[in-house]
Amino acid sequence: MSRYDIAIIGSGPAGVSAALTAKNRNKSILFIGKRDLSNKVSKSHRILNYPGIPDVTGADLIKAMQDHLDSMGIVLTEDQVTNVYAMGDYFALQCAKGMYEASSVIIATGVMPGKLLKGEEENLGRGVSYCATCDAPLYKGKETTILGYSPKEEDEAAFLAEVASKVYYVPVYQDEVGLKDPKIEVIHGVPKEIRREDKRSTLVLNDREIESDVVFVLRDAVSPGQLVPGLETEGAHIVTQRDMSTSIKGLFAAGDIAGTPYQDAKAVGEGCVAALSAVSYLTELSKQGS
Ligand SMILES: Cc1cc2nc3c(=O)[nH]c(=O)nc-3n(C[C@H](O)[C@H](O)[C@H](O)COP(=O)(O)OP(=O)(O)OC[C@H]3O[C@@H](n4cnc5c(N)ncnc54)[C@H](O)[C@@H]3O)c2cc1C
Repeated sequence: MSRYDIAIIGSGPAGVSAALTAKNRNKSILFIGKRDLSNKVSKSHRILNYPGIPDVTGADLIKAMQDHLDSMGIVLTEDQVTNVYAMGDYFALQCAKGMYEASSVIIATGVMPGKLLKGEEENLGRGVSYCATCDAPLYKGKETTILGYSPKEEDEAAFLAEVASKVYYVPVYQDEVGLKDPKIEVIHGVPKEIRREDKRSTLVLNDREIESDVVFVLRDAVSPGQLVPGLETEGAHIVTQRDMSTSIKGLFAAGDIAGTPYQDAKAVGEGCVAALSAVSYLTELSKQGS
């Protein structure tokens, strides 16, 4: 397996900035994120405080960032990182579509909206999963529930319906659900809790309970503590120093995940700092190896 210099997880303003800076410094980069780069930026109606681009729509800012990435030959790997493991002088990244290795990592995943559900963390890996693509084979012919936090999770539901006997789909968003497969039952409600008893998982909604073999919780981002075991966090954020380093050597964080204020310009600035700090770390690492 080839090892990248820097893996950048997340394709919002912080990740894009980190990717541009790292590429500029001639590092091999693995840039992992979503096709639309950032759902938050896409949804921004008007951005009035981004230097040099006055009164820009989120969609236009995304287009400008995409063009910038293209102009520098930076390719986005569309995947979801589920775990990052510190292995000493490198990191192993477990993703929905495969494994990768990198000498350093920048986490720019944005901040997870809302709180974890009661019972979610305790039952993760035991009837609660964050990745339908990874775990679908385990639930062949079984009953499954998906809690989808954005319309793009409907693709995961359609995929799961190809293997599972039943998919209960609970949308946690306003848009109309476009799922037509007869194996998929769309149920509306407010999620409150996940319980695990007798090898069955129960999703408790405000007005009913759904029992199945697994509950997939599909959000845009997972909490940083779950992404990187042992990482120092404070609430929803990763604890960082001024150089965007974290409690794990070689691992950096930038953007909303590194704390408030949640602003595009701050995310871009931190992405740049994180990339330059990762470059310094790599120099140090190569001196130790030589
Ligand atoms: C409606 C709205 C309007 C806003 N307006 C403004 C404004 O006018 N001005 C301003 O400065 N700021 C504004 N903001 C805030 C701004 O959008 C955020 O501060 C900024 O997007 C943060 O960038 P980020 O790179 O940290 O994270 P994000 O933009 O959240 O990007 C993170 C990306 O990483 C991906 N990701 C997450 N986890 C993983 C994983 N495990 N594997 C792979 N990919 C992953 C996510 O899907 C996402 O694409 C607004 C936000 C919203 C929601």
